Amino acid sequence: MIKINDNYLKLPGSYLFSTIAKKVSAYQEEHPEAKIIRMGIGDVTLPLAPQIVKALHEAVDEMGQKDTFKGYAPDLGYSFLRETIAKADYQERGCRVDADEIFISDGAKCDCGNIQELFAADAKIAVCDPVYPVYVDSNVMAGRTGEYDPASETWSDVIYLPCTMDNGFFPELPKERPDLIYLCNPCNPTGTTWTKDQLKVWVDYANANDAVILYDAAYEAYITTPEVPHSIYEVEGARTCAIEFRSFSKNAGFTGVRLGFTVIPKDVKSGDASIHDMWARRHGTKYNGAPYIQQKAGMAVYSPEGRKEVKEQVAYYMRNARTLRDGLKEVGLKVVGGVDSPYVWLHTGEMTSWEFFDYLLDKAHVVGTPGSGFGPSGEHYFRLTGFGSYEATKKAVERIKSLA
Ligand code: PLP
Repeated sequence: MIKINDNYLKLPGSYLFSTIAKKVSAYQEEHPEAKIIRMGIGDVTLPLAPQIVKALHEAVDEMGQKDTFKGYAPDLGYSFLRETIAKADYQERGCRVDADEIFISDGAKCDCGNIQELFAADAKIAVCDPVYPVYVDSNVMAGRTGEYDPASETWSDVIYLPCTMDNGFFPELPKERPDLIYLCNPCNPTGTTWTKDQLKVWVDYANANDAVILYDAAYEAYITTPEVPHSIYEVEGARTCAIEFRSFSKNAGFTGVRLGFTVIPKDVKSGDASIHDMWARRHGTKYNGAPYIQQKAGMAVYSPEGRKEVKEQVAYYMRNARTLRDGLKEVGLKVVGGVDSPYVWLHTGEMTSWEFFDYLLDKAHVVGTPGSGFGPSGEHYFRLTGFGSYEATKKAVERIKSLA
């Protein structure tokens, strides 16, 4: 019999979104007249902006010409894009990040999931909780998380950093020292953010404890609050302890096109070993970079016209998130998020998050995402998103209001 990586078998049963899809289709079958509104969407819904479409067409044409055809992209990505990112996203914000510290990839999900390969099998991970499930799942597959307890829905070897209304969604420093600390700012699913001063606490802790912060800034484009940094490198000391993930998915609609990047400063080290050089080696060997066509389209996001177009899309989703947030607050629900992120996170009171899911589906025909699917501290919370249409968002809010 072939031997498998049985860590995969440890992953708990069904994936959150497939459970939701099954529940919704069963409900629709029983209630064919119900006009269901999907507000649990974690994907963009607006079509690609015109400047991006134009760049894609041009890049395809180049690929069809002898003189401009491109084969494999360079390991780290094309320098035209890395240099543009270094300047626009970092240097112009006062951060020291060089173009050769940027690794272009086919999206943040792969990078967030793969980064753990660089670290020891017994590296201890800490995750803010609730959070994007990829961080924990990828460590489960690597055999780093110990045993799963279905009752508490926790892993024995994971340090959970609860972020709830009780602590203002800012986690306390852990009692036990982690090697890797996953932070997500703005956070999916809570939509909450940390300021530069709050992040400094974590950067200082990581530097003092020889830990590495794995910082996911996939929703950076949604930040409106001036005190919230767009990059961890805006925080003094981060260059020696932090790796940053970015994505073109939610800021420019690339979820189906695929483009992202990871920043690994050369100053992040483990003894004499350079994490940057290890990731470069990995990229060269297990390439998950993006083709020329995508990278060229990514350049359009930085052109004046392209920038304007994608900003308008972000503003559209944010208007929806604000509409949700304000409407739910009006009926007395406890709500956070929706200011610096497209996610709105509400407290479900006495109901568990799955009870609230069923309640909302049945009474308002509105679908959201139960908070418990994002980690143990997500229980009694629920996620709605601004990624639907404005009309659907307004209708969903009206229906939820009428339940009060
Ligand atoms: N990071 C967070 C926090 C996310 O919510 C998502 C997608 O939902 C990703 C990363 C994945 O981004 P990408 O589409 O670039 O793989």
